[in-house]
Amino acid sequence: MKIAIYPGSFDPITYGHLDILKNAAGIFDKVIIAVAHNGAKNGFLNVEERVRLIRESIDDIPNVEADSFEGLTIEYAKKMGATVLIRGLRAVSDFEFEMQLSQTNSALCDEIKTVFLTTKPEYNFISSSTIKEILANGGDISKFVPEPVYNYLTSRK
Ligand code: ADP
Repeated sequence: MKIAIYPGSFDPITYGHLDILKNAAGIFDKVIIAVAHNGAKNGFLNVEERVRLIRESIDDIPNVEADSFEGLTIEYAKKMGATVLIRGLRAVSDFEFEMQLSQTNSALCDEIKTVFLTTKPEYNFISSSTIKEILANGGDISKFVPEPVYNYLTSRK
């Protein structure tokens, strides 16, 4: 059984993340989308809110689970029996950081490989930070985030 971890901030999950996740779910037996706790940053939503919104957004994908973790991604991957990390690439600007991250993870644990996926063009430009900015300025985010995220964010304002 090939298990992959899709780690990230997901603050909040977007249609871009969801598209990457669906693509990964078609390739691997099980995909765990995992919110990384970042001790230094509090974030927009707390980790529990992010995981809950992910769960509500993925209930139609049978081989995907949502979770959160603290510490190194590779240690979490080992604990979950995963051998693959999924990351998304939007543009050349993502490449340098993602390359460095994947090579660092390989140097720490060579058995765990990073697989990069891309989205459909219509989801490629979406980022969590842009969504927060649109929301803060009263814009419509319904085209960019799954319905549970839209409902939660627009009702908590
Ligand atoms: P992080 O803070 O770890 O970058 P994010 O939640 O911003 O976490 O993103 C998690 C992963 O999803 C990253 O690999 C990021 O490049 C990718 N990603 C985010 N949005 C998109 C998108 N619209 N298209 C493709 N990949 C994306």
